[in-house]
Amino acid sequence: MSERVHNFNAGPSALPRVVLEQARDEMLDFEGTGMSIMEHSHRGAAYERVHNEAEALLRELLGIDPSSVVLFLQGGASGAFATVPMNFLRGCADYAVTGGWGEKALAEAQIVGDARDCLGMQRRYMHVPPPAAHTVRPGSSYLHITTNNTLEGTQYHRFPDAPVPLVADMSSDILSRRVDASRFAMIYAGAQKNLGPSGLTVFVIQRAFLDTARTDLPVIFRFATHAAQQGLYHTPPTFAVYLMRGVLRWMKALGGVDVVEARNDEKARVLYAAIDDRPDVYRCPVEPASRSRMNVVFYLPSTDLDERFVKEAKGAGIVGVKGHRSVGGVRASLYNAVEPSDVAALVEFMKDFAGRVA
Ligand code: PMP
Repeated sequence: MSERVHNFNAGPSALPRVVLEQARDEMLDFEGTGMSIMEHSHRGAAYERVHNEAEALLRELLGIDPSSVVLFLQGGASGAFATVPMNFLRGCADYAVTGGWGEKALAEAQIVGDARDCLGMQRRYMHVPPPAAHTVRPGSSYLHITTNNTLEGTQYHRFPDAPVPLVADMSSDILSRRVDASRFAMIYAGAQKNLGPSGLTVFVIQRAFLDTARTDLPVIFRFATHAAQQGLYHTPPTFAVYLMRGVLRWMKALGGVDVVEARNDEKARVLYAAIDDRPDVYRCPVEPASRSRMNVVFYLPSTDLDERFVKEAKGAGIVGVKGHRSVGGVRASLYNAVEPSDVAALVEFMKDFAGRVA
């Protein structure tokens, strides 16, 4: 079998090796049932145990109490861009657009109703504005933020104190650090970065906020439908939930969110230091106070060198570092399952590359 690579993909992205090994071992026979978990009914006892454990672990790690519902649905974060305003936009809503994904969320909301960008950054997304810059309109249904900007490599390090319900797209930094979940009326995240494989979208919704949801929309798109049936209104993405359970077990065994956060801080510190050490070769465009611990974006002096870097990195077993097509350059994503040893390999390669091209 070939060696596994150093995987810095932006999502779908690296998964913990032990989780993949367990899935392999259980592929033909899940816990002596004579079939894989994929072949079980989503209403049977075997899957129910998996589903309930995944929910319990998510609640424990995120710090969610019974005043919120947890749902494992399909449709991706892009689906949520539409279903959030469909359910919750009454009158008007405010969006803090701090990157390309926030733009998409706003565009969907504008199809549904009166949504506006409360920041007006005009695509200059090299920082995240301070809390006080987030002004919401009187009567706004909610303020929507993107906690980590996957494309641009910026991240909120202080959340706004909104006088209205705060809704967060946490797709690219959920469970990467400790957050006070009670500050958010709603959190949603595509699983394919920090939680598991694609095909699964996690929602955490405060019941009081859910009670404000509209009902004049198709049943399948109402969060209340799913909440009323403990997330089993229809077939959930069972295999993805099973893999997420493995990832959450792995996180807990590692020591929980605080240990994961410390590990992530150190990985990011080491990589940013390698960039800042060689300003003649590497340049991070993001303002230091807004730098993301999850997606580290940097540029070389020319697009030719960017391309050469990505190509040679691949030769060294380092994959997934090409910047998003909308911003170019290089991007290394340091999600939870990326090991410090992967970052060490990248930093080693960067030093060697800088020595050769400078
Ligand atoms: N929001 C953010 C912050 C993202 O990073 C992504 C995916 N990269 C999305 C939304 C879109 O997610 P999905 O592909 O699950 O629709």
